[in-house]
Amino acid sequence: MADVVVVGSGVAGLRCALALADAGLRVTVLEAGEHAGGRAASWQDETTGMQVDAGPHVITSEHRNFLAMLRRLDTARQVQWQRRPIITLQDGKGMLRMHTLPLPSPLHGLPMLPNALRRLSVGDLWSHRRIAWQAARLNERSLRELDVEDANAHLREMGVRPAAIEWFWRSAVLALLNVPLEQCSAASMMRVFRLMLGRSGWHFGFPKLALAQLYVPGACRAVLRSGGQVLFGARVRQLRIGEGGIEGLEMEDGLSIGTRRCVLALPPQEVAKLAGGHAALQQLGTTAGYFRPAPYISTYLWYDRPVTHERFWARAWSPQGLNTDFHDLSKIRPALAGRNSVIACNAIGPMARADWPDGRIVEHTMGEVAEFAPMARQARVVHARVHRIPMAIPQMRPGMEALRPPPATAVQGLWLAGDWLDTALPCSMESAARSGAMAAEALLAAQGRPVSVSLPAPDTRGFVRWAMAR
Ligand SMILES: Cc1cc2nc3c(=O)[nH]c(=O)nc-3n(C[C@H](O)[C@H](O)[C@H](O)COP(=O)(O)OP(=O)(O)OC[C@H]3O[C@@H](n4cnc5c(N)ncnc54)[C@H](O)[C@@H]3O)c2cc1C
Repeated sequence: MADVVVVGSGVAGLRCALALADAGLRVTVLEAGEHAGGRAASWQDETTGMQVDAGPHVITSEHRNFLAMLRRLDTARQVQWQRRPIITLQDGKGMLRMHTLPLPSPLHGLPMLPNALRRLSVGDLWSHRRIAWQAARLNERSLRELDVEDANAHLREMGVRPAAIEWFWRSAVLALLNVPLEQCSAASMMRVFRLMLGRSGWHFGFPKLALAQLYVPGACRAVLRSGGQVLFGARVRQLRIGEGGIEGLEMEDGLSIGTRRCVLALPPQEVAKLAGGHAALQQLGTTAGYFRPAPYISTYLWYDRPVTHERFWARAWSPQGLNTDFHDLSKIRPALAGRNSVIACNAIGPMARADWPDGRIVEHTMGEVAEFAPMARQARVVHARVHRIPMAIPQMRPGMEALRPPPATAVQGLWLAGDWLDTALPCSMESAARSGAMAAEALLAAQGRPVSVSLPAPDTRGFVRWAMAR
């Protein structure tokens, strides 16, 4: 019998299983699907033989728990970092390359001002003074008081002008939190803004390999080496809970697995289903049921020639737009260097138009690529794939930050992990990695073996930190 069962082999489940295996426990990982990785999975495209991800992901320099896992697995060098420009932004008026400088925050953002002034007036920028001061002075505890309000209302209340809201905030919130401004918790938005303002040096990175290759093989090997196992096609249907806590799991195929220690590393909808019918988990089941999914449509286009010189660009929100972020994998993955462009992009949340057939998604995406990269107008798409993803992350609507649960549950021997847990981070691979580490710490602490695996969420630095202390 295993020492611990971890249900779910996404980033959260594998981070947890790895930490437990490193602590010498025998871990059984149960995965409903045919491969590991969950929402950050990769698989082989049948036509081209290329490894594709569920959808293209970015890693940031602030993904400290995710990067710590990669360092542990010796794959951290497989991230391609981009410091200059920090991002290339395309909007209805053209292209802007955004830069930062290695100066104490918030001065690092100064090089962005000339570009911002090409789209906004001095008055529009000046209208951010109150919200910037508020962001500088917030801490994780005080920002949660803003969870009652929506992001749009908060921006207006703080005097941010409509032009700035429409040009900057609408796109930023959709890209980073995957919900429209009007449906986003002001606390979730301010957490991200506080770090953008208060942390100099943050930048984006991209997996040089298929995303799952960064962490799935290494984590699974570590589990096997410590005497554990990873089982696929193993869907948990029900929890068996007795007076003394968790007793076991009923599987969809009728099998029963006994365990006294279990981590559910699952999305909220799955936790809601499994918690249902257990009096001790009634509160958790109700809470988990409140989380609504933000869907994605990720499109891959294989061109017959190189069409860009760019690795990554973002498209500002517009009512007619579809995709938000574009990645040319031939400029990111060394194995594809010098080859024809493979563009991967994401249509997020309300932009993921479920009623559009694949052909229309592909055609519209080709149009958006050609608007950015004129070379694409002469090029032919030789192959395309459209991935429809019902949930990329849970929506952080007003009130949802307060509902994010900790790893411990009301049932002895049962813990939770997953991007939606209370990690003080936006739902992401980093939140998933931190939650997995936190669940492992809680489990080991309950065994009288306290260890430190998780890294705290990043905090502000420079003048912004100074302002917080006033
Ligand atoms: C297209 C796309 C783009 C994204 N972009 C980014 C990005 O740029 N940066 C970033 O940081 N994050 C990004 N994310 C979000 C990120 O992928 C997720 O936050 C993260 O992967 C969630 O991991 P998790 O382990 O919490 O959950 P999951 O990945 O959902 O893992 C849960 C696992 O449990 C399994 N499971 C479910 N039910 C059962 C059951 N009953 N029994 C057994 N197993 C079960 C599932 O099959 C799954 O493998 C993106 C997501 C998508 C889809």
